[in-house]
Amino acid sequence: MLPSKELPENNWERSLSIDMKKVLWQEMRRTEFEQAVKADAVVIIPVGSVEQHGNHLPVGTDAIGCFTIAQRAAEAIDEFPVLVSPIIWAGYSPMHMAYPGTITLKFNTLVNLLTDVAVCIYAHGFRKIFFLNGHSGNEFIMKALRSKLASEEHVPSVVGYSWWGISQVYEEMQKICQSDEGAIGHAGEVETSMQLYLRPELVHADATAWVRGVWGDPSTGTRDKGERLVTAAVDALVKVLREYHSGELDARTLSGREVFEGQKTVDSVFVREYMGRR
Ligand SMILES: [Zn+2]
Repeated sequence: MLPSKELPENNWERSLSIDMKKVLWQEMRRTEFEQAVKADAVVIIPVGSVEQHGNHLPVGTDAIGCFTIAQRAAEAIDEFPVLVSPIIWAGYSPMHMAYPGTITLKFNTLVNLLTDVAVCIYAHGFRKIFFLNGHSGNEFIMKALRSKLASEEHVPSVVGYSWWGISQVYEEMQKICQSDEGAIGHAGEVETSMQLYLRPELVHADATAWVRGVWGDPSTGTRDKGERLVTAAVDALVKVLREYHSGELDARTLSGREVFEGQKTVDSVFVREYMGRR
């Protein structure tokens, strides 16, 4: 139960007559989805990986970080519903198959999986779909997906970010993680810090010496840095979700003032024009 706070008139929780705010897709019922569509919900699809993260971090590191950031951002927004789909638990990680524990999808499997999930969510009436990526090996697939979904699946309204790719986050990462210069790396300062904050029981603190397959310096990770990183990522995501919901994000990317997730504005213009012709 949430504390009995005064809910604003437009709060969608009131219209659902539920006494607990739900953000996780799998916990919702049919009627709640109908209400969420009416309230113009944003749906986050978090995308993780299962891959070695050195000798000190769990293979689910990317999924744990990404899902937590998505869930906390969704819970922090009250003006409109934000739902978090089940995490895409595996990603594209062939480069890590040399080490035990890695489970990678093939390139086409991941593309098809992400496509199927987005198409289903769109089919239920959701028009704001937000991929939140947690693994750098997925990035190039995520970037191409926007055009693919629009031109082949007629799902035009998708955006995607790697959580560390939101500009505000990167600035914070540079301040917080100076030994790795703010780079996300792999099982280095950033990811070690985040796991020390989120799931310390899974971190082998005596094994943070650098080994092959690690990018960055795990020995400089701390719980405090992890908390600051997660907080910065959640705050930045909340801001972007609000801009996405209001249309501001689209307007800005179309205006040519901002590079959108590594894609020049031409992509957004293409998607808009393509769909306009339909
Ligand atoms: Zn990772």
